[in-house]
Amino acid sequence: EGVVAGGGGTRFDLEKETELRFEVEAGEKVQLELLTGLAEVFGSELNRNKKYTFGPGSKIAVFTWQGCSVSLSGKTEVAYISKDTPMLLYLNAHTALEQMRRQAERDNERGPRVMVVGPTDVGKSTVCRLLLNYAVRLGRRPTLVELDVGQSGVSVPGTMSALCIERPADVEEGYSVQAPLVYHFGSTTPGTNIKLYNKLTSCLAEVFSQRCEENRKASVGGCIINTCGWVKGSGYQALVHCASAFQVDVVLVLDQERLYNELKRDLPHFVRVVLLPKSGGVVERSKDCRRESRDEKIREYFYGFRSALFFPHAFDVRFSDVRIYKIGAPSIPDSCLPLGMSQDDTQLKLVPVTPGRDLTHHVLSVSCADEGEEGAGGVRRGVLESPVCGFIVVTNVDTQAQVMTVLSPAPRPLPRHTLLIMDIRFIDLK
Ligand code: ADP
Repeated sequence: EGVVAGGGGTRFDLEKETELRFEVEAGEKVQLELLTGLAEVFGSELNRNKKYTFGPGSKIAVFTWQGCSVSLSGKTEVAYISKDTPMLLYLNAHTALEQMRRQAERDNERGPRVMVVGPTDVGKSTVCRLLLNYAVRLGRRPTLVELDVGQSGVSVPGTMSALCIERPADVEEGYSVQAPLVYHFGSTTPGTNIKLYNKLTSCLAEVFSQRCEENRKASVGGCIINTCGWVKGSGYQALVHCASAFQVDVVLVLDQERLYNELKRDLPHFVRVVLLPKSGGVVERSKDCRRESRDEKIREYFYGFRSALFFPHAFDVRFSDVRIYKIGAPSIPDSCLPLGMSQDDTQLKLVPVTPGRDLTHHVLSVSCADEGEEGAGGVRRGVLESPVCGFIVVTNVDTQAQVMTVLSPAPRPLPRHTLLIMDIRFIDLK
């Protein structure tokens, strides 16, 4: 129904309020073209007669409010039209948020701060992107707060970040990441160091609030916070912490009624908690698939994307020229802690790392921390709370010569000398 195979590709005719869902096969590319009518991909409008290319593993929905026809060429794993989408409910959520922005404008208050929660693979990031795109298309300047350390839409994995959205996401490449504010977390799950995770959430909230005080548009635009899929135990507590740190007004719960009830019970009564269905189009991603997309994100950081290729640099860094730290000492039983020291202290401790062979392939964050004061006390304070200015990957370690070779987006020398090690490794196959 509504599908015609032709020479150039397969044509799909979509009725209003339906979507074409497709997945790109591994190792393949698919081209999409809008032939007639109006359509959007996760809230970004398509231009007519422009070819959009999607890489291997992409999972895309082309939605139309008015009806349209599109063509697809290349190898798709699946491609089908669905009439059953929650888009109207998502649009209603956007409309309610826009009303809050208008009211904020009128009453000289702040706009909505929204947290999007739910288990993994329910379309949280997609809903965030949709809401941000709809807002920015109306001239708003909302902020995306990315707390999903496993699958960041803003920076490399293992980071927590905030990005002021000034234009809709690029259909193929997502948000253009000019000047995001990025913090080093260091691992792909919050559970590795929940104290640090909560602390960085607070840091981001503080910086965002400051910005709102200085910038009226940012304040009215509010923020959309994307969270991790870990919604039990400490993961749940982290959501509650985030709600309070950001003083969120609205929580959108995708798909899980239990989580919805718990948050309604535990958050202050003035927080609007809304349960939304997930889209049937959201595809569950395997562990491998997730790892691949993390790898891809790091590769993109160094090598760029189709429209903007980068040429990273490789050079040697002497051990004596840098200080490498890991955040958090391995946790030890409470009974073994020195008197007056708490578990928090160990999780937020900067532990110096002696460079060795096992550093190879690790991603390191280059901290913006002020290096003015030398010595333990001087540098230590502020490193955790300082954003990072970039990332490098260690490609080789020579313990004899006391140097390591790194892959860096910029030529030597490194802009700063305080490096934070991630659990995450990247093997550069180029
Ligand atoms: P989460 O953030 O909850 O883990 P995502 O928003 O990243 O989930 O969605 C998971 C995957 O499903 C993504 O690859 C996304 O592109 C895809 N996806 C989301 N919505 C749809 C849809 N309606 N049709 C097809 N694919 C979709």
